[in-house]
Amino acid sequence: MKREFAVIGLGRFGGSICRELSEEGMEVLAIDLEEDKVNEFKNIASHAVIADATDEKVLKELGVRNIDHVIVAIGDNIQASILTTLMLTELGVQKITVKAQNDYHEKILNKIGADQVVHPERDMGKRIAHSIISNNILDH
Ligand code: ATP
Repeated sequence: MKREFAVIGLGRFGGSICRELSEEGMEVLAIDLEEDKVNEFKNIASHAVIADATDEKVLKELGVRNIDHVIVAIGDNIQASILTTLMLTELGVQKITVKAQNDYHEKILNKIGADQVVHPERDMGKRIAHSIISNNILDH
């Protein structure tokens, strides 16, 4: 059975998630404020729409409450990221993954009910550091 996803914010991080999920055959609703970004994903995602995710009415109209897993990849605008996440939790979305900009942002996201908070630069830095260490051990 195909799983349904929505990706809100199509920057480098959100765009990459959207691309990857779509290539794996998943149903993806791609959402961004900017027309250019949305046009870029028209032929990649199942649906791509220009919308402000901080608008509760818009989220309802898009049927976001019925989507299995929503990824909030709004980076710089922390207020928009928090507001969007809060509305998704209130709508009862099953699984919400959010990209955090900093530790305070992460703390708030956890408090308001995000299921998974990611910090891509930090998480990837950790993974690469561990992979460097294990490669060094193998080399010796
Ligand atoms: P990245 O670090 O992933 O590259 P970025 O710097 O390219 O992120 P940001 O400005 O952090 O981009 O935001 C990611 C995307 O989220 C942008 O394309 C932006 O248009 C979109 N975005 C911001 N606010 C909203 C909103 N309220 N509703 C929908 N999309 C939004």
